[in-house]
Amino acid sequence: MFFPRVFIEITNICDSTCIYCPNSIQERKRGSMDIELFKKVVDDLFSNHKTKKIDFHILGEPLLHRIFFEMVSYICSKKKYPVTLEVTTNGNLLIKDSIQKGLLNSELDIIGISVRASDEHEYRLKVPKNSPLNYEDYIESIKSFIRKVHEANSNQLVSLGYFHTVNSAFTLVFPYPFITEKSQILNVTKSWHDLIKGYKQTIPFEKIKIPSLIAGWSYEKNVSLSRNLEIRIEGNGLWQNKLISDDYFVKEASFGKCSLYDNLSILCNGDIVGCCLDINGENSFGNLQHSSINEIITSKKYTDFKKNIEKSRLTLPLCKRCIGTICKKDSGKEIKLGPPRFIKYYYLIKESPGLFLKTAWMRCVKYFRNGLLFHILS
Ligand code: SF4
Ligand code: SF4
Repeated sequence: MFFPRVFIEITNICDSTCIYCPNSIQERKRGSMDIELFKKVVDDLFSNHKTKKIDFHILGEPLLHRIFFEMVSYICSKKKYPVTLEVTTNGNLLIKDSIQKGLLNSELDIIGISVRASDEHEYRLKVPKNSPLNYEDYIESIKSFIRKVHEANSNQLVSLGYFHTVNSAFTLVFPYPFITEKSQILNVTKSWHDLIKGYKQTIPFEKIKIPSLIAGWSYEKNVSLSRNLEIRIEGNGLWQNKLISDDYFVKEASFGKCSLYDNLSILCNGDIVGCCLDINGENSFGNLQHSSINEIITSKKYTDFKKNIEKSRLTLPLCKRCIGTICKKDSGKEIKLGPPRFIKYYYLIKESPGLFLKTAWMRCVKYFRNGLLFHILS
């Protein structure tokens, strides 16, 4: 079977307490995947399935895994076809030279660093209160790593992750706006561009396209600064509405469009879950300690889930909640976020015609595969 993306959570232990993450309310036992299970997963994946991308993350900080680099090497020794390897890290451990060297010498293609913070205040929403790492040291260590990647003329891409909170459900619950204006994207881009100005792989600033932030825009936007550096601007959500406060409740949905179920998500204890948002492993389809990927994804439970969700039918409680509508508890009023779909499509055609065509094509394919009901409901 083909999975566009495989998430292997090698640990759910983390050294941060980001307010936008459900890590602190995670009910799973904390732990790390042992090498034997990891090898079993990788062998099984490359022998019987295909994927384009492997990411070492669901929750937790992957660089805390004591044999992280050994795991990356193992994948590279076993891969039978080209696959992009990506790690998403909070960047705290880049303060260590050994980690920077390890990343540089590894065969990772993308090193995603969830910077999120554009100043000291936002940074403090990320790290534990007693963290000895201050904002300057944190940013400086990321900068030194970026310089090294450019100097080595490596093929690795460093992707710096930022959040936008335009019309985001996140701001209903947390009074912390992250990026809300195009000018902020411009400032962030400028500050990172200044760092890499002299390198030959750098794109001249005037040629960089800064995206606008359309209210309710949900597409991820990547701003390319050089062959080795990009800024990734993502919308920020409430993790299946799990981070919602007591002032709100969720009206569950029975129908709705999901775009994550096609991936394969493996938790650090070996459970296969429906998507990378199932942070508590509420809906485990089976465990890879005792079964193969194939045995799990051909089980009735899994195939029923896939069949239903492909047709936009939400049968699992966590999916119903995830796609559900947030309502005010006192008035029962539904919270509507974002502009009507035609406005989003207008800006999508204007700003990213390629992405629009891709989205339209995927919808056509699903339309023919799943019929009119899907089209109307999604
Ligand atoms: S670093 Fe990642 S896993 Fe850890 S708390 Fe922050 S978002 Fe969550
Ligand atoms: S609808 Fe279900 S499978 Fe899709 S993202 Fe939400 S919880 Fe995951």
